[in-house]
Amino acid sequence: MFIHQMFEEKPFVFSLEIFPPKKKSGNIQSIYQTIEALLNMHPDFISVTFGAGGNLADNSTCEIASTIKNKYGVESVAHLTCVNSSREDVAVMLDRLYQSNVQNILALRGDINPDIPPKKDFLYASDLVRVIKQDGRFGISGGCYPECHCEAPDLETDIAHLKEKVDAGVSHLVSQLFFDNDIMFSFLEKIRAAGITVPVDAGIMPVANKGQIERMVSMCGASIPPKLAKLLNRYEHDELSLKSAGIDYAIAQIVDLIEHDIQGIHLYSMNNPDVAMRIYNGIEQAIKRRRG
Ligand code: FAD
Repeated sequence: MFIHQMFEEKPFVFSLEIFPPKKKSGNIQSIYQTIEALLNMHPDFISVTFGAGGNLADNSTCEIASTIKNKYGVESVAHLTCVNSSREDVAVMLDRLYQSNVQNILALRGDINPDIPPKKDFLYASDLVRVIKQDGRFGISGGCYPECHCEAPDLETDIAHLKEKVDAGVSHLVSQLFFDNDIMFSFLEKIRAAGITVPVDAGIMPVANKGQIERMVSMCGASIPPKLAKLLNRYEHDELSLKSAGIDYAIAQIVDLIEHDIQGIHLYSMNNPDVAMRIYNGIEQAIKRRRG
């Protein structure tokens, strides 16, 4: 099923994100144990990230997305970046995904790595979206940034680019992580006013430790509201308490989003089923109420 059809059929969509373990670690099997544990959360779909740098040969995104769909019977979304790919690379990947029965792609530009010169075929995600749309075999999702993408001069310009991407063929959006729901509500108002009508999943990442969150925030530009900053400072040297506080923060954030009629939650599970399950237990009632 295409993801946008899921949003047409269900009042609320709950999804998870995982990343492939490094192939070199020889630990590919561990991801299947992770997935089996995550299935206890009854996700509507699971998305699988695409390694930064976009090395197709060393990439297990397709294999994992295919197993989620074909072995576990859960819809999957394969992330696909394009900045380091040629048109031929993308054509090979699309065939591989189609033959593996993966129906949905999260089409991304990818971050520009100073050590890997970008190829010239795809400047932006919308260039990739056009190619996948022309191919015609996949549901296409895209990324969006409630606090503005770090390279855009301002949010209005970023939203204008987002509109181009949606017009090129994106039928579902997943947001970058954010910690302040008011920022998301304001973003949704702005994109709807700009004529972007596709369903939006709110991307939620639980805080695991101070270093991880500071790294993520410096990479993606998300701001830390005072309430969260206080927790990070209070439990700076107490990892277990910080983890519990981070889980509670994510639960409160998600319950508030659901109460404000968000269409979908995309939980960045970080391949950590224990944390994801603790969050799920805290939001299960709110999800059930919403699903009716
Ligand atoms: P785009 O939509 O192309 O936007 C990138 C920048 O270009 C923005 O500033 C935008 O305003 C600007 N822009 C767009 N069109 C134009 C135009 N016509 N003219 C001028 N400027 C323009 N990275 C990975 O490597 N692997 C992953 O699996 C992965 N998963 C992700 C999942 C989600 C939900 C999100 C939100 C991000 C993910 N990323 C992933 C990170 C993503 O690759 C980076 O954020 C990247 O920098 C931008 O990708 P994009 O697809 O949003 O780019």
